Amino acid sequence: MKVLVINAGSSSLKYQLMDPSTQEVLAKGLCERIGIDGRLTHKVPATNGKYEFEIPMPTHAEAIQAVLDALTNAEHGVIKSMSEIDAVGHRVVHGGEKFASSVLIDDSVMAAIEECIPLAPLHNPANITGIRACQKVMPGVPMVAVFDTAFHQTMPARAFIYAIHYEYYEENHVRRYGFHGTSHLYVSRRAAAILGRPIEELKIVTCHLGNGSSVCAIDGGKSIETSMGFTPLDGLPMGTRCGSIDVSIIEYLMDTHHLTIEEVMNILNKKSGVLGVSGVSSDFRDIEAAAAEGNQRAQLALDMFCYKTTKRIASASAAMGGIDAVVFTAGVGENSPELREQIVSSLGFMGIKIDPEKNNIKGEERDISAADATVHTLLIPTNEELVIAQDTAAIVGK
Ligand code: ADP
Repeated sequence: MKVLVINAGSSSLKYQLMDPSTQEVLAKGLCERIGIDGRLTHKVPATNGKYEFEIPMPTHAEAIQAVLDALTNAEHGVIKSMSEIDAVGHRVVHGGEKFASSVLIDDSVMAAIEECIPLAPLHNPANITGIRACQKVMPGVPMVAVFDTAFHQTMPARAFIYAIHYEYYEENHVRRYGFHGTSHLYVSRRAAAILGRPIEELKIVTCHLGNGSSVCAIDGGKSIETSMGFTPLDGLPMGTRCGSIDVSIIEYLMDTHHLTIEEVMNILNKKSGVLGVSGVSSDFRDIEAAAAEGNQRAQLALDMFCYKTTKRIASASAAMGGIDAVVFTAGVGENSPELREQIVSSLGFMGIKIDPEKNNIKGEERDISAADATVHTLLIPTNEELVIAQDTAAIVGK
């Protein structure tokens, strides 16, 4: 079976064509600058081929068509015709409380995804545009929606409720949702496989540390607590997002700097986090390089990020009443031995200790625990596309 995985953003669209049973990626790529001009980067892992094209993409429909043309092209294509694509799996950011698992897309599912637009005004419209574009270009091909929020629907009410008027939850759906669900799900399953134990027996803290970051407490395979909240702005400080702050700061900044609410929210979403503190970059590689050259604000940004991540690991463990394994994944978690080491350095009291030599690795699955650790620390590269493809295959049922 061949599944096309689509992750549509407002001006970009990532894709992978894969066989979920063998996990082989036949082709993958990225459409950028949709609505501006249009650029396609297409990669074929089997031949290490990389192809770049300038193709006009006024809308996502032209982008999808360009992807299908690339996949079926006589020279750099990987399938003979579009009919070889059995199903399409779409990443959808927000499923609200309506979806606790992936679903086959029909008109009522589309309506429900649309109803969630106020909860993710930047992401869901782009995801909807991607689905509609695929439906237009590939009529009759079954499509599945896989939600970032679904995995966290198992959180108990005491974890997801905010301490504000209960009516805001009942009437306006204001609650903690959590994101990065497919990533937390994937790495927790891999952790159980690596440890050779049933996931039902394990208490795992997964740390998805990338440009966006979140920590999740997974008890017996179920998310019971996560650091992101109503929106992906909550929780850990990120590349440009502030994470959890005292909400009174918003009013104070509006008053002192004569800013509108939109301006303050823009600052908190796009100019804060490690970029805001360091003044250097949102990219952790740049910040680590600046810190190594003696930039004190860059060092402070790293120290703050690690400190808050450390506290989240401890609090996630407390939420479960124990911990068997902590997992690092995503751009920073997979690639920065220094930050992993700093994050766990004060968690020895919980039995979390890493072996510096085993930790000296990037982007590979490995148990990096020290010999005398009582909790496993694992490095597991995430694979959200595989979860999307496997869910899609299971639902489409071939
Ligand atoms: P996203 O949340 O956009 O999916 P990723 O998981 O791809 O992000 O993570 C991207 C981030 O990973 C980059 O901003 C960069 O800071 C970080 N990163 C990538 N490689 C390294 C590295 N070698 N060392 C430190 N950080 C890295």
